[in-house]
Amino acid sequence: MTLASIQSRLAQAVTDAGRDAGGVKLIAVSKVQPADRVRSVLEQGQRVFGENRVQEAFGRWPDFQAEFDGIELHLIGPLQTNKLNRALELFQAIHSLDRESLARKLSQAVQNRGRCPTLFVQVNTGREPQKAGIDPDGLDRFLDSCRTEFDLPIYGLMAIPPADEDPVPHFRMLRECAARNGLEGLSMGMSGDFETAIACGATHVRVGSAIFGERATPGP
Ligand SMILES: *Cc1c(COP(=O)(O)O)cnc(C)c1O
Repeated sequence: MTLASIQSRLAQAVTDAGRDAGGVKLIAVSKVQPADRVRSVLEQGQRVFGENRVQEAFGRWPDFQAEFDGIELHLIGPLQTNKLNRALELFQAIHSLDRESLARKLSQAVQNRGRCPTLFVQVNTGREPQKAGIDPDGLDRFLDSCRTEFDLPIYGLMAIPPADEDPVPHFRMLRECAARNGLEGLSMGMSGDFETAIACGATHVRVGSAIFGERATPGP
């Protein structure tokens, strides 16, 4: 696969869904990928990338940012509160806001810095015990406290459906949760199902292996 073929599949899916071109952002998930593959995708013009570890992202993105203009980085993996300030230095968007303690710390950090990244609340649509994310039943209350208690502007919702299930009910659930709460952003869809996610309303798709090739070590 190449970036160009993913871009054209994405464009086709947007057209098939009767949606506006430009309504879906492609996040190229570069976690664990060797630097030469990332460089090649940068050279093909891609500027929006996803990483799932703060430390790993710091290992290479400052150098790429010195070399390429307009890079936009999205944190799509779990965020520990002790890495929060580091994360805010590097990432323009965080897709993994998943608990009250993090919202509280984030709120303080955002006030100190005077600017806020684009925020997505992660929802555990499959209610999987081992998976991060807010339980769907507690979501409305959590969003409410983000607004009223923490003064955090939430842009959208993010989900990773259970690996062995049809993703469609999960994508639909996420869309309904967003609509009910007046949220615009829907971060859903990966290499195997991004076209389906676009049909279900995704605004951000997170595509890794289909662009870069298989990862040498499995991502968490
Ligand atoms: C790794 C990862 C992706 C990309 O997965 P692919 O199947 O390689 O496209 C998307 N979202 C999250 C949260 C990930 O951790």
